[in-house]
Amino acid sequence: MSPEMTPILKVSGLIKRFGGFRALDGLNFHVTPGEILGLVGPNGSGKTTAINVISGLYAPDGGNIAFDGASIGGIASHKLVHRGINRTFQVPKPFQLLTVRQNIEVARAYGMPGNGAPSVDALIDDYKLRDVADRPAADLNSVQQKILDLVRALATGPRLLLLDELAAGLNPTELDWIAGKIKDLAKHGISIIVVEHLMGFIEQITDRVIVLSAGKEIFEGKLSVAVKVPQVIEVFLGSEHAA
Ligand code: ADP
Ligand code: MG
Repeated sequence: MSPEMTPILKVSGLIKRFGGFRALDGLNFHVTPGEILGLVGPNGSGKTTAINVISGLYAPDGGNIAFDGASIGGIASHKLVHRGINRTFQVPKPFQLLTVRQNIEVARAYGMPGNGAPSVDALIDDYKLRDVADRPAADLNSVQQKILDLVRALATGPRLLLLDELAAGLNPTELDWIAGKIKDLAKHGISIIVVEHLMGFIEQITDRVIVLSAGKEIFEGKLSVAVKVPQVIEVFLGSEHAA
């Protein structure tokens, strides 16, 4: 393996239980530096739980998470932010009473990103938040809240970014725009895990996908190959056709 192919993240045998139920049931996958990895699977297959455990919101009940070669399972999210891991939420929760600018400032102040990190104003301009910068986050529509959530994560200077259904609810023009942004971030060396139901979007931006079913990976490789694998077709059709 060449040095640049050494995984920045390696998840091995990851287990997360809720009571007797295993939302993650021995999950394995890796992400290489600057890679955009798609994490796909039917509702309830464990995608958000995987993000929650990797980002430190929940401690794992088994298995290992290695980031930059160090074991990070069970380290809280506020500490992982300083190591370079941040994420967006399926349902963003900005500080509603703070302005858009203040939300980004809080994230940047807390995250203490390195010198190369973009300024608050650069982020506001790059992500088209200038018109709403001085409005309370509560005034934003759902798409703007998602963009603010992404910017909040970026303000902390992550090296691994986990995106949970960021594209849901975006129109085709917004989707193209955000796809370009995500690809740019990866070109600048950020490793990205993208959880998304929109397969066209996944196809457009990912190098590789992991298909999850019941907390385990059942496929790893290109999406164009995944859609021809009977077991993958079955979990997607099965979930849609379930009564
Ligand atoms: P996905 O994001 O793939 O739709 P989730 O990771 O949200 O799936 O959920 C996986 C399974 O774990 C689901 O059955 C869900 O109900 C369960 N689950 C997720 N979070 C919790 C929680 N905090 N408490 C109990 N069960 C949970
Ligand atoms: Mg989810």
